[in-house]
Amino acid sequence: MDHFLYRDGALFAEDVAIADIAATVGTPFYVYSTATLERHYQLFQQALEGLPHLICYAMKANSNLAVVRTLGRLGAGMDVVSVGEYLKARAAGVPGERIVFSGVGKTADEMRVALEGGIRQFNVESEPELHALNAVAVSLGKRAPITIRVNPDVDAKTHEKIATGKKENKFGIPISRARAVYATAAALPGIEVVGADVHIGSQLTDLEPFAQAYLKVAELTRQLRADGHDIRRLDLGGGLGIPYERTNGAPPLPMDYGAVIRRTLGDLGCEIEIEPGRLIAGNAGLLVSAVIYVKSGEDRDFLIVDSAMNDLVRPSMYGSHHDIVPVVEPAAGIELRPYDVVGPICESGDTFAKQRLLPPLGAGDLIAFRSAGAYGAVMASEYNSRPLVPEVLVRGDQFGVIRPRPSYEEMINRDSIPQWL
Ligand SMILES: *Cc1c(COP(=O)(O)O)cnc(C)c1O
Repeated sequence: MDHFLYRDGALFAEDVAIADIAATVGTPFYVYSTATLERHYQLFQQALEGLPHLICYAMKANSNLAVVRTLGRLGAGMDVVSVGEYLKARAAGVPGERIVFSGVGKTADEMRVALEGGIRQFNVESEPELHALNAVAVSLGKRAPITIRVNPDVDAKTHEKIATGKKENKFGIPISRARAVYATAAALPGIEVVGADVHIGSQLTDLEPFAQAYLKVAELTRQLRADGHDIRRLDLGGGLGIPYERTNGAPPLPMDYGAVIRRTLGDLGCEIEIEPGRLIAGNAGLLVSAVIYVKSGEDRDFLIVDSAMNDLVRPSMYGSHHDIVPVVEPAAGIELRPYDVVGPICESGDTFAKQRLLPPLGAGDLIAFRSAGAYGAVMASEYNSRPLVPEVLVRGDQFGVIRPRPSYEEMINRDSIPQWL
């Protein structure tokens, strides 16, 4: 459930009319709902109630400072994958002891910043990383708290670009090597083992792969404890999918996911960390856009809109579906017609949807791409010298611009001309 509904024939974000935001900010823009962000976080809280746990929002889904602060205020931890995200989390007011650092390619500089600034744990993904982290920690006279990310070799049954838990993926260490790597870790003076970590992919619509992975982690935890390691935290990653297509069934709910965690890992007495990104932010955001032209081709009509693949890359990168809704509610019984919804960029890949059924639309009409709150603005670029799309946060009847649209001047002045030109 989200908070983008029609009221008296107009699309609202909570108590704010989308058309009012468009009139103030211009199109295109992203808009996020505070109530939806908070609700999704609370669903995970309820799902894990009674188990010691920390929900570490995966910032890569949407790292706007206002979004991070909204969740941080509720007590959320953060899962970061770069020092940039780490510094943003800190700037949003999240203390280091609630931040976990994931990612396959952490550099020594990134490790140093996080160790000096305070960090809950590093999720280490390889032996070379373990040794690098040890060296940094020793040089600072500290011990780095770590989990080791294991790759359980399970098929997450999701898009190949976002599956991470098979042995051919670059993530984690093979679970069969885990005991040896933990033994290495335990002998390093700058390392303190605090737990284990797994993350098998994103947009999972089936709980079975989670259950398979977590059962393997449970078995590993018992072995590691028998080997003398203090496994007190289990970081289970993120990955729970969201309903991008309202008409096409619903993925499992956080409550059902929580039940899987209890069933597979609940008796180990570990603190559970989860790292949801998409489920918290995805359906909490829209990308609002205006129709520039309706162009009739030989066998189809194109809706040419003012947002493009540089603003929301998911359709062209993953072939993903986003529901598209008109900002003015279509009259009941109106006949829908098929449109190819495309952006202005000079690539055929700049297509949001083909033969999408929509009410008749004309130049100037507003549409909204749903489920655009995660992996939307964060993946945007200025390709075709299109300034980044602004972001707006709604709370009740208020809205605030949480990232302004850069002016053309700002965009141009970011480049510099070397002295020989
Ligand atoms: C991407 C990622 C997440 C978040 O995944 P979602 O599908 O957005 O929930 C969590 N943890 C790690 C390590 C990730 O790489």
